Amino acid sequence: MKEIPFNRPFLAGTELGFVREAAESGQLASGGPFTRRCEEWLREATGTERALLASSATAGLEAAMILAGLGPGDEAIMPSFAYPTIASAVVRQGAVPVFVDIDPETLNLDPDRVREAVGPRTRAIAAVHYGGVGCDLDALLEIAAGGGMLVIEDAAHGLLASDRDRPLGAIGDLGVFSFHETKNVTCGEGGALLVNNPALLERAETIWEKGTDRAAFLRGEVDRYSWVDVGSSFGAGELAAAFLWGQLGAAAELTARRREIWDRYHDAFAATEAAGHAQRPHVPAGQVHNGHLYYLVLPTPTARDAFIAELGERGIVTSFHYVPLHSAPAGRRFGRATGSMTHTDDLSRRLVRLPLWPDLDEEQIDRVIEAASAAAAGAARAHG
Ligand SMILES: *Cc1c(COP(=O)(O)O)cnc(C)c1O
Repeated sequence: MKEIPFNRPFLAGTELGFVREAAESGQLASGGPFTRRCEEWLREATGTERALLASSATAGLEAAMILAGLGPGDEAIMPSFAYPTIASAVVRQGAVPVFVDIDPETLNLDPDRVREAVGPRTRAIAAVHYGGVGCDLDALLEIAAGGGMLVIEDAAHGLLASDRDRPLGAIGDLGVFSFHETKNVTCGEGGALLVNNPALLERAETIWEKGTDRAAFLRGEVDRYSWVDVGSSFGAGELAAAFLWGQLGAAAELTARRREIWDRYHDAFAATEAAGHAQRPHVPAGQVHNGHLYYLVLPTPTARDAFIAELGERGIVTSFHYVPLHSAPAGRRFGRATGSMTHTDDLSRRLVRLPLWPDLDEEQIDRVIEAASAAAAGAARAHG
């Protein structure tokens, strides 16, 4: 039986033509026509003030932590159930990542835990929209406004998802997308920083221009450009931007396809949930997700591991997610946990993600549903 991989990047078919066009244009560095087109597309899709195409979401997070003004002794609050570079970006500023627990319903940051973690040195709240399902940003924005903090959205999963008609990534002060090969839209390695707060715009451009005022120079506002601030090479090159431009053209269609597969899984596993074999994801009212991932939560860690092994034997690749940051070696060294981590510790050991990519065919989807339903029932009986 042919293996069903966990993920396969989607090809729109237009990417290589655009890459050739970029290559033949002779303009290969960042900031060329394909970069501008992608940035404009992102701006229109989200309503952000300014989108900056990045070499990765990690680069975007690093720029965001500079913009948040984090320095030695400062703190940024974030979920422990997250990808490591959200914390690493804080540590690079000499600041301390403060980890808090998640809401067990959505696996997103719990605003009550954030409130408890706020201290005199808190400068930022960094939130993840897990699986493209928006977190409770309104509560986080309220906490941040009360303490002069910035809200940074790690919307690496969140392209074209929304919270009551507000596109994810464009709601907080800053937002970050990822175009890594595992994300909905990709150029291999890539990302974007959305600058939603106009007060941060000028410094964001400077940081992007490697710490120079080149952007002002290109607009004719200064007659030469020089080093004026910290900065780095955060931008993506034109070849990556050209590839991404092809993908963005198909983004709506492939998001719809992902949601279709997500719905097939969700309907099929209603019986699994009703039988107590596994829990399905919960999408709060008002949230429109983008089918980024589908997961099940098995009754015990042993049942989850047995489930993964069983599906592996049936040729279906599944995957756990995030080792909690507070218990990871670097998290213990550089960060600090506040409050109980019950849900993070528990759910990270019981969660499993199923294959979900646009080219999955009906037969493969049926195979996953049948195998996962049977494996969940077996694992819950043996290890529940
Ligand atoms: C993938 C991912 C990142 C990192 O994205 P890169 O583009 O690979 O740097 C950050 N946060 C989350 C939630 C992710 O899923």
